[in-house]
Amino acid sequence: MDMNFRTLTERITDDEAAYEFLELLRWDGQPLCPHCGSTEQHYFLTPKAADGRKTRTGAVTVRRLWKCRSCRKQFSVLTGTIMHGTKISIRTWVLVIYSMCSSKNGVASREIERDYGLTPRSAWFMIQRIREAMLREDDLPFLAGEVESDETWIGPRQRNVHRNHYANKTPVLTLIDRGTGEARSGLMPRVTAETLAAALTEQMAPEAVLMTDGNRGYQTVGATFSEHHRVNHEIKEYARTVRGKDKQKRRAGVNRCEGFFSQLKGSLDGTFHHVSVEHLNRYLAEFDYRYSTRKQSDAQRMANLVGRVGGRRITYDALTGR
Ligand SMILES: [Zn+2]
Repeated sequence: MDMNFRTLTERITDDEAAYEFLELLRWDGQPLCPHCGSTEQHYFLTPKAADGRKTRTGAVTVRRLWKCRSCRKQFSVLTGTIMHGTKISIRTWVLVIYSMCSSKNGVASREIERDYGLTPRSAWFMIQRIREAMLREDDLPFLAGEVESDETWIGPRQRNVHRNHYANKTPVLTLIDRGTGEARSGLMPRVTAETLAAALTEQMAPEAVLMTDGNRGYQTVGATFSEHHRVNHEIKEYARTVRGKDKQKRRAGVNRCEGFFSQLKGSLDGTFHHVSVEHLNRYLAEFDYRYSTRKQSDAQRMANLVGRVGGRRITYDALTGR
């Protein structure tokens, strides 16, 4: 499905069109009962105007409800998604999700308020729900290829800082698997050999090849992986060719992490002026998600996201509690 924001707004003129669009995206046109997993024999409960729910602004919204012939339960394409039970129009959800999936730097709450006539509270809530769906799944496989690891400090820009450059800044660690293109970021309480070791062994398999800069904190944990290659930024070395155990040439360096950080910081400076530490984690999840899925089309990324809640793909098992 080829689309951009303009064609999407033209196509999705109202809530009903938004439902149909989501049904196509999630079900490819064939409704799937989230209660029992049946894909057959559903019937559509025609929405009557009288059934429509009134939104805060008084507009009547339409729900496209299906009824499962197997288990007799009702469902819609929103059942079990981040949009379940929302009072915000589905058209708005679709457009905001698209914006967050496709914009390189994310979207600011204020833009959403203005563009869709939402209260600050509603706009903020939507963004949090969407970020929650972008959270990393907690049972992901270990990163096992060539993995770059690097840290950066996020926080208010300080003028005339003479003494402690890192005061009021929060360290962020990012791992990027070069093979799969996947990024995994997290806040660190402090950057020490111990915290680095804990973070890396939690995400990386022993057979992985670790790429870092000259930070000595990586020395001990680096030895636990198949290979560890470093570049020395202090002598302005950013990449060099090394030989692996298998005699293959590899490129040592952390350029991908640096690219990731520069985009992250550019976005924090431009769009987001104040990001508290508690929200930074979700914000990192949003960045990781966009980075890790950057080879997908906007439609693929959106379909994937809509089917996730709190960093978990919605599976039939999860929904039915099996
Ligand atoms: Zn069913």
